[in-house]
Amino acid sequence: MVDALAQLRRAVEILGYDDATFAMLAAARRELTVSIPLRRDDGTVEVLTGHRVQHNLSRGPAKGGLRFSPEVNLDEVRALAMWMTWKCALLDVPYGGAKGGVTIDPRLYSRSELERVTRRYTSEISPLIGPQIDIPAPDIGTDEATMAWVMDTYSVSRGHTVLGVVTGKPLPLGGSLGRPSATSRGVTHVALAALEEVEVSPAAATAAVQGFGKVGRGAAEFLAKAGVRVVAVSDQYGAVTRPDGLDIEALALHVDRTGSVVGFEGSKAMNSLEDLLLLDVTVLVPAAVEGVLHEGNAHHVQAQIIVEGANGPTTATADRTLADRGTVVVPDILANAGGVVVSYFEWVQANQAYWWSVDEVEQRLADRMKQAWLRVREHAAHHQLTLREAATSLAVKTVAEAHRARGLYP
Ligand code: NAD
Repeated sequence: MVDALAQLRRAVEILGYDDATFAMLAAARRELTVSIPLRRDDGTVEVLTGHRVQHNLSRGPAKGGLRFSPEVNLDEVRALAMWMTWKCALLDVPYGGAKGGVTIDPRLYSRSELERVTRRYTSEISPLIGPQIDIPAPDIGTDEATMAWVMDTYSVSRGHTVLGVVTGKPLPLGGSLGRPSATSRGVTHVALAALEEVEVSPAAATAAVQGFGKVGRGAAEFLAKAGVRVVAVSDQYGAVTRPDGLDIEALALHVDRTGSVVGFEGSKAMNSLEDLLLLDVTVLVPAAVEGVLHEGNAHHVQAQIIVEGANGPTTATADRTLADRGTVVVPDILANAGGVVVSYFEWVQANQAYWWSVDEVEQRLADRMKQAWLRVREHAAHHQLTLREAATSLAVKTVAEAHRARGLYP
C-alpha cells in the first residue's frame, strides 16, 4: 500500500490538488473481511480468511480480480484495488477499482476443496457484488473455473442466472473470445510501441519474462511471434535462459507436462530467480508478483525498457532509481490493462446477450491500448514526467473530476 499511496501523493502534487482530495482518493470506499470455514477432503475443518475491497465507485461499478495466494493480506488487496481504479480510468473503462483475495496456497488444496472455498467466499461477499455493483475476475491462483463457481453461487442465491456478475468466465457461460489472452496481448502492444519509441526493431530486441502464468506465458509467446528474441523466462521454481532465444511454444508444452519452466531442454538454469531481472536485455517483463524491483536491485537492472505485466512490481524507491538511470518503465496501470479492457467487453456482451467475434475483440483491444499509450506518452513528454507519473496523474484527474461532479453527500 505504501507504494500505491506514494504514487497517488505524487499525482496529487502534479495536479496541484489539496490534501482533502488526496485523503478522499486514498481511502477505500468499502472493505469486507470474511472467515471461510472449509471442510477438507480428509474431514478436518480449517478457517481461511478472505477480503474484498472496493476502492472507488465514482465512475461506475467496482471491478477487479480475485487472488488466491498465501501472501494475500488486507494491505495488499487495498493497494491492488486502488491500482484498478486508476487502470479503469486511464483506459476509459466505466468502472471503479476493486480487488479480492483469499489467503490460501491453492497448490495444497484439491479441486473440490477450492470449489468449496470459492463458493463460501462468494456467498460471504455476495451482498457487495453484482453486475452493477462489483464484478470480480481471475487473478493469481484463480481461473475461469473459479469464475464459473462464483457466477453459479451468486446466481443460485438470486434465483436466476446472472452472467454479468463476473468476467473471465468459460466461453459456454458467456465468456468473451479473446479474454484469456487479453492481458498478454496488451502487454505486447505497449512493449512494441515502447520499442518503436526507442527505435529498436523487434528483430533486434531481446526480452526476459518473469512469471510464466496467465500473463507471462502469453507475453513471451506474443513477443516471440512479433520477432523479439525471448532469452530468459522464470516461474516460482526457477529461471531458464538461452541467449539465442527460447522456443516459447515448446517451453509451454514442457510447462504443461512438468508444471514448471525448470529443466526445459536446450536451456540453461539461472543461478537465482533474481538474476533474470538483471539481464542485459532490451525489454524486461515482470509478470509475477509485487515488489520484485526494489532498492536492493534497481541499480543493477540493465534492461532498456520495463513493461509491468504484474501489478506493482516496482517499489517507489526503485522507480526513482530507474527514472534517474533513464530506463523506460511502462507502468502496470497501462501495461497490463488489456485484461480489464476485455473484461469490460465481456460484461458489455453479457449485458446485451450479444457476442462479438475474436477479431472484433482483438481489434478493439489493440485500438484502446494504442490510444492509451499515445495519451500517456504525449502527456509525459509535454509535462516532463515519467510514464508512471503521466499515467497516474491522467487517471487520478479523471476520477477526481467524477468525484467533484457528483459532489459530497450529504
Ligand atoms: P498466475 O498465477 O497465472 O501466474 C503467476 C506466475 O508467476 C506463475 O508462473 C508463478 O510460478 C510465477 N511466480 C510467482 N512468484 C514468482 C517469483 N518470485 N519469481 C518468478 N516467478 C514467480 O498469475 P497471473 O494472472 O499471470 O498474474 C501475474 C501478475 O499479473 C499479477 O501481479 C496479477 O495481479 C497481474 N495481472 C493479471 C491479469 C490477468 O488477466 N490475469 C491482469 C492484470 C494484471
